[in-house]
Amino acid sequence: MSAVIIDGKAISQQIKDEIREKTALLKEKGKEVTLAVIIVGEDPASKVYVRNKKKACEYVGFNSLSYELPEDTTQDKLLELIDELNKRADVDGILVQMPLPKHIDEKTVIDRIDPSKDVDGFHPMNVGALCIGERGFVSCTPAGVIQLLKRGVPDLDLTGKRCTVVGRSNIVGKPMALLLLRENATVTVAHSKTADLDQVLLESDVIIAAVGRPKMIKAHQVKEGAVIIDVGINRMDDGKLCGDVDYENVVSKVKAITPVPGGVGPMTIAMLMNNCYEAALMRE
Ligand code: NDP
Repeated sequence: MSAVIIDGKAISQQIKDEIREKTALLKEKGKEVTLAVIIVGEDPASKVYVRNKKKACEYVGFNSLSYELPEDTTQDKLLELIDELNKRADVDGILVQMPLPKHIDEKTVIDRIDPSKDVDGFHPMNVGALCIGERGFVSCTPAGVIQLLKRGVPDLDLTGKRCTVVGRSNIVGKPMALLLLRENATVTVAHSKTADLDQVLLESDVIIAAVGRPKMIKAHQVKEGAVIIDVGINRMDDGKLCGDVDYENVVSKVKAITPVPGGVGPMTIAMLMNNCYEAALMRE
């Protein structure tokens, strides 16, 4: 069987192009979309992420406001800025780049963002909305995974399928499980305490790996014809990136799989743009 290699770059481009068109239409009606991005400190990876987010804003036609605060910014100062952005009618989305320096409590910061501007989907109100099936912003990476499944494997109907999410973090694993449930899948969440991971994985039609352990999921754990989405991003000693799935050995067994890089990675920013567009639409 020759596996479908799900092309995250192409799918994220498709989504950004759709948003670009919708944003142009909104502009014709006099509404601009604005994302405010805050970064505290000098973390090089965070700086790259923020730069990519700004580039994506430019591409889809959003305004982006950038706040680059020094490492020693106090929590109160950051909260003040968030309060100000919450009040501004011209700001649709607010994103605080994580991680924050150790003296700032991330939860306090997330809780301070107006839920209607929380385009990262991390605020408890948005997490709660997802949990009870109400409208709200969904964390971008798991939302991107759903798009990869729908657009990358169009004949896959998740209804009744056995889907296993490996990992239970607040930003990937848990929202991922809830989104799959919304698609009527039968969902298992595996984690570091799961006793029979091999058995759970072998029974799965769809596996979403979100662990952060290079090549942890091996071919013998994967059912013939399964669909695999690899969220993991691990940097190897040689500087190359690899996922949580042993791609080279798994690929010949599965129906479809995402590569790393070029799978889930590019989707996160596309879904951020989507959330921001939705925020502007709601504000309208
Ligand atoms: P976390 O470290 O927050 O969570 C990892 C999860 O994996 C935990 O729930 C942990 O279980 C579970 N786990 C650890 N070891 C095992 C094991 N041996 N067997 C089964 N489960 C295990 O990571 P994140 O969710 O933030 O990220 C996961 C991966 O996804 C990382 O590689 C990260 O870089 C990547 N990522 C990629 C993004 C993208 O845009 N593509 C965005 C976000 C993350 P327990 O809860 O029991 O400790």
